[in-house]
Amino acid sequence: MFLVPESVARDLVTPAAAFAAVEATFAAMARGDAWNFPVVRETLGHADAVYGFKSGFDRAGQVLGLKSGGYWPGNADKGLTNHQSTVVLFDPDTGRPHAVVGGNHLTALRTAAASAVSIKHLARPDAHVLGIVGAGHQAPFQLHAAAAQRTFSRVLGWNVDPSMLDRLAEAAAAVGLPFEAVDRDTLGARADVIITITSCFEPLLMCGQVRPGTHIACMGTDTAGKQELDPALVSTAHVFTDEIDQAVRLGECQHAVEAGLLTPAAITPLGAVLTGDRPGRVDADEITLFDGTGVGLQDLAVAAVAVRLARAQGLAQSVDM
Ligand code: NAD
Repeated sequence: MFLVPESVARDLVTPAAAFAAVEATFAAMARGDAWNFPVVRETLGHADAVYGFKSGFDRAGQVLGLKSGGYWPGNADKGLTNHQSTVVLFDPDTGRPHAVVGGNHLTALRTAAASAVSIKHLARPDAHVLGIVGAGHQAPFQLHAAAAQRTFSRVLGWNVDPSMLDRLAEAAAAVGLPFEAVDRDTLGARADVIITITSCFEPLLMCGQVRPGTHIACMGTDTAGKQELDPALVSTAHVFTDEIDQAVRLGECQHAVEAGLLTPAAITPLGAVLTGDRPGRVDADEITLFDGTGVGLQDLAVAAVAVRLARAQGLAQSVDM
């Protein structure tokens, strides 16, 4: 079995490699070659932690495994990351453990890769203003991955705590783009692509606040109760997701479906656009929305890349189990 620690995985997998792995995974899901198992997510009743597993099998890529981890809110005070992720891969032929991979950095890469895949396939080709709602840990990764998908000329950002926006300004500067802190009305009126990546439990962008033709990648809502968008905005959009069941249960779609404004049948898996089975954007004026809930197969795909590269470069530790 191979060990690929966090410090090694972090330096090995590039955003471009994560993008390719996630794009291939979404297509494999749409072809029925890869599937996720039901998610386990439990409150521990210890350390205020939420703990869980996301798992799946990609038969085409021969990747089987799980991501285990969750959220420990007291970790920051101990100098640790609040979100903790570790991926375990198994040999699909024997069930023997194949690798353990540090998954904290990889989680940010695979999440940013998912919204970037949606931007590549759904945003208008002439999109040139990128808007980001949220400025937490994930936001710079989102900005970096999105910037590679269109010829953006500037980045607009909003965060409930404006002092956190320096992080976005730095990320924009790193990819050579000017950054402007704006209010949400301005962001909605000027952005061609909007990424929402917050831990919010109420709508931050309302119907009418976003102009026709915008692509929204809604990435923060990954738990029942969380919310970033007005359900009326979701219901007027052409809606895509990574996995329909999960979008309805714990993604942004949960609220529009609950309100009777959207049916699961009206949601398109993004993978079906990649395989050419379903249309993506159908006209320049529609609002497209990607509800990125985060599936286990994304984690397994980037972890498999990390293991492959670590082995090729002699950086994977081998352990006898
Ligand atoms: P973080 O704690 O570093 O940042 C949280 C962000 O949300 C900050 O910008 C904060 O200001 C904002 N926020 C918090 N409460 C808010 C409120 N009431 N109103 C407006 N903004 C608020 O978290 P992070 O690691 O950047 O993750 C952001 C979100 O993305 C989390 O909800 C996380 O669970 C989710 N996430 C989703 C995926 C996925 O695959 N979809 C993957 C990783 C993280």
